Amino acid sequence: MPRWTALWITLCCASAFAPAADTLDIWVVDVEGGKATIVKSPSGQTMMIDGGMPGLNDRDLNRVAAAAEAAGVKQFDVYLVTHYDVDHVGNVPNIYNRFPAKLLVDHGPLLPNPKLGAGNRRAADAYIPFLRGKRRLSVKPGDVIPFAGVKVMVLASNEQFIQKPIAGAGAANPACPASLPAPVRVDDNAASVGTLWEFGKFRMVDLADLLQWAELRLVCPKNLIGTADLFMVTHHGLGQSNAPALIQALQPKAAIANNGERKGIAPEVVKALRSAPRMQDIWQLHYSATAGAELNAPEPFIANMKAQGCEGNWIKVSARRDGSFTVTNSRNSFSKTYKP
Ligand SMILES: [Zn+2]
Repeated sequence: MPRWTALWITLCCASAFAPAADTLDIWVVDVEGGKATIVKSPSGQTMMIDGGMPGLNDRDLNRVAAAAEAAGVKQFDVYLVTHYDVDHVGNVPNIYNRFPAKLLVDHGPLLPNPKLGAGNRRAADAYIPFLRGKRRLSVKPGDVIPFAGVKVMVLASNEQFIQKPIAGAGAANPACPASLPAPVRVDDNAASVGTLWEFGKFRMVDLADLLQWAELRLVCPKNLIGTADLFMVTHHGLGQSNAPALIQALQPKAAIANNGERKGIAPEVVKALRSAPRMQDIWQLHYSATAGAELNAPEPFIANMKAQGCEGNWIKVSARRDGSFTVTNSRNSFSKTYKP
């Protein structure tokens, strides 16, 4: 090979042939109090979770597209629809039209619910014709969502919950209330697909919008999940979710809240998170205008500070097999690494 050709190959193509980083990467996108998450496995498999709100001049679609571009994602292997409330399922068809997915994963049929509000009802109804001709997998507790290199186990789905502890879990949970609250069904939140993610020693729990009565069935009287390094705060940080007994059981080192400017970061949730024994930091997608200075996270840990002209910055997680993970705020490039 001529010397110049060899040099050209070295210069041009070194990065193209470099092995991808061996990390599980997660982009938590700000959709103003909805949910939209992009995940990329070390082998390059990709997952989209929910999608925020439809309409609004494609606000949330554009934010997801920006994060997808940063992630180098053009389509998804899996599209996980946690439940059918509008801030989760409403934008799924729009995102799918731009970023097709090979497989849709959800909790199955909408449960009978006379109390379901009109907006959520419309979003849930629109999902049914959208499914036509697409590959769909409705999951049950204990199922594993196919995602190469990462074990994504279903803990809860359609108001059903795992009954046996995950290997290594099952200890009595002293933080449990004396009796479990009765199930309530107002929206589709308690039907959410809740998941445990295992990547080497790294463990993350994301229960979408499960309500407290449902969360407690996973950790009381015995903790069936075990601990988690990272906790995706349930239900935008609202007080109907995030049972103290769940947070005490998981003992996360960090938590990320998909809150909005006026949604979530409830005082009792912040208190429960801060009193978890290993907790170091709570990250927020938004500054909460309702929580006040004392309850908001310190400014470096908040991705978006203002509602007017919000830039839609995301929070990125890079997790490693040794259990360590790095969280980065795209607004200020502030990042912090949590040790195994
Ligand atoms: Zn929600």
